Amino acid sequence: MANATVENLVIIGSGPAGYTAAIYAGRANLKPFVFEGFQAGGLPGGQLMTTTEVENFPGFPEGIMGPELMDRMKAQAERWGAELVTEDVTFVDLSQRPFIVRSEEREIKANSIIIATGATAKRLGLPSEHQFWSRGISACAICDGATPIFHGAELAVVGAGDSAAEESIYLTKYGSRVHLLVRSDRMRASKAMQDRVLNNPKIAVHWHTQAVDIVGEGDRMNGIKIRDTKTGEESVLAVKGLFYAIGHTPNTSLFKGQLELDEVGYIVTKPGSVETSVEGVFAAGDVQDHEFRQGITAAGSGCMAAMLAERWLSAHGLIQEFHQTSAPEKPDSPATAKKTEIEQASEFDLGATRQYGGYALRKLFHESDRLLVVKYVSPHCGPCHTLKPILNKVVDEFDGKIHFVEIDIEQDPEIAENAGVTGTPTIQFFKDKELLTELKGIKPKSQYRQLIESYL
Ligand SMILES: Cc1cc2nc3c(=O)[nH]c(=O)nc-3n(C[C@H](O)[C@H](O)[C@H](O)COP(=O)(O)OP(=O)(O)OC[C@H]3O[C@@H](n4cnc5c(N)ncnc54)[C@H](O)[C@@H]3O)c2cc1C
Repeated sequence: MANATVENLVIIGSGPAGYTAAIYAGRANLKPFVFEGFQAGGLPGGQLMTTTEVENFPGFPEGIMGPELMDRMKAQAERWGAELVTEDVTFVDLSQRPFIVRSEEREIKANSIIIATGATAKRLGLPSEHQFWSRGISACAICDGATPIFHGAELAVVGAGDSAAEESIYLTKYGSRVHLLVRSDRMRASKAMQDRVLNNPKIAVHWHTQAVDIVGEGDRMNGIKIRDTKTGEESVLAVKGLFYAIGHTPNTSLFKGQLELDEVGYIVTKPGSVETSVEGVFAAGDVQDHEFRQGITAAGSGCMAAMLAERWLSAHGLIQEFHQTSAPEKPDSPATAKKTEIEQASEFDLGATRQYGGYALRKLFHESDRLLVVKYVSPHCGPCHTLKPILNKVVDEFDGKIHFVEIDIEQDPEIAENAGVTGTPTIQFFKDKELLTELKGIKPKSQYRQLIESYL
């Protein structure tokens, strides 16, 4: 456990609310300490890491990919001096001052806290859900309904509450017909919302109907396998989109009994503010908002939280200012264009630990006498962005002892195909031209470290 000093401000969560709070607090010279999260309550970068195009965040008229938007927010927070760690908070004590915030790796004392841990959209857990997630299945009709693949298509919504009713009505703007799948013979939505649904000629309510799986071809869904909950009979409903409206779970288990929560578990904030029931603790984003749940509203409340935290620290004489000694550097723009074979060859250096692209991989595969670690990523894959800093740290620890090559599978599709890569991120470990093992998805730092050590 490290760090005995008292931080001005700890921010828990790295979605739009957490990063925006970090940007504002950084600019106010508070040097905020941010627990980005790792596996609890979603991904570092938050829910937008799991989506593709974000078309309603102001400032991006052409739209922006969710992971890229979050990368930019993170870079902006770092630029203004926020200290970020990719760790889950496992314990907080709000009963003593300074507050205590703990992860597996450290304990931090903090004079103020911003909670921005979000809310997780509930999923049905259908067998093919993962395959068609964001390729037909969505947990946010407002976000994804206007996507071209849904225009004029038959769509379905699962749920029986106000959200399901509202989303069904909203989707009639885009779909040719909306099928609302309700498990029982009644809806939980308010009477007024039910009337609007039942009187809408474009909505067909399927009572006693449960979704059991998705059917599709390639990466596009074209139907839902449904079951009649009374007869058990199964059939396929031909639809191109399925929207979950079965509720959200706010990520607040850490704060139970310490902060006022509502009956569902959302943090209660003062009307028009982001102050919680404990002075010096603020809540921003979806963790305190069961109504709007959008990137921009989360970012807006993150800004409010940082400004109120600064005022609160200042009023209590607790601010320790950290002035940046020089103008913060602007982050590099991401490199996008693929380098030619000649450019890659001229940059290749057999002694360097880190390499990039197909040319380097081919050379190292034949010439390297070190352990060869190959990371396959794609530019719009959220977990790939999450994995980057985790793996970078491990690669640094083995500098000069391994070769590490990054392959962008969009730029080098034939390499990914030859390597049998079916998803990103994938890490393959080679020695003497032999594949030793393969890891898919994100693993804890310690797992990569142990694996490399075992092969050295
Ligand atoms: C598929 C999908 C598509 C969407 N599309 C859009 C869209 O197009 N436009 C739009 O405006 N909105 C969209 N939304 C909604 C938007 O993503 C959310 O409203 C927004 O991300 C909420 O931001 P937040 O910062 O409050 O929380 P989140 O984004 O949920 O972030 C929560 C953060 O808290 C961290 N965390 C949780 N528990 C812990 C812990 N114990 N310790 C440390 N960290 C923790 C998580 O790692 C995560 O970083 C979409 C949502 C989904 C699911």
